[in-house]
Amino acid sequence: MVYLALAAQIPRGKRNMVPDTPAETQLAKDIRACRLCAERFAGTATAHVPRPVVWFRPGARVLIAGQAPGARVHQTGRPFTDPSGDRLRDWLGIGEDIFYDLSRVAVVPMAFCFPGYDNKGSDLPPPPICGRTWHNRVMAELGNLPLVVLVGGHAHRYHLGARGPVTETVAAWRDHAPRVFALPHPSWRNTGWLKKNPWFQTDLLPVLRARVKEVLHDPGNPD
Ligand code: SF4
Repeated sequence: MVYLALAAQIPRGKRNMVPDTPAETQLAKDIRACRLCAERFAGTATAHVPRPVVWFRPGARVLIAGQAPGARVHQTGRPFTDPSGDRLRDWLGIGEDIFYDLSRVAVVPMAFCFPGYDNKGSDLPPPPICGRTWHNRVMAELGNLPLVVLVGGHAHRYHLGARGPVTETVAAWRDHAPRVFALPHPSWRNTGWLKKNPWFQTDLLPVLRARVKEVLHDPGNPD
């Protein structure tokens, strides 16, 4: 309704300048309705119910391949609505307006739901059944995106087949740039890692930001 009201105020010849959000696909709807992990999540310390956070549309230019939603994202239903998201957007050099524009950025974690905490209050890993059930189909639907940003070790393993430590994979970023960048998770837990590895901010981030700008401002660029 808000969109229609805004469109009515725009001169007819300029209405195509309003960015359209592509329609949700059937696959996205199917994932949103998924409850495969209901029993598993009921047995965690958080005893929560599945709430898939689905944030992708075919035609996006940048893929953020993450790990799994955290507790705050489980509440909001939007990816990276937390301090990790603020740090990630800073790394990419974009604000929320672009990050949450589904026609430009897709966010596909290794599990679409918050995995919960164990009895010690630690994050549980993404349930492997999620990747097995959905990931290949999502990637087929998204096609060959010009920029893929891998956030954290789980995404490194799935997308690059990386088996070594995260630092080793990130340090080899030139092997995959400019189409793929492997990053550590932007969690506050990695603040010490960032201090120990200053090359990440001085060498990798400027190249990543330039690439983000390039693919988002040049939709005709297939590379
Ligand atoms: S984590 Fe994935 S497989 Fe499990 S309920 Fe959520 S969407 Fe389904």
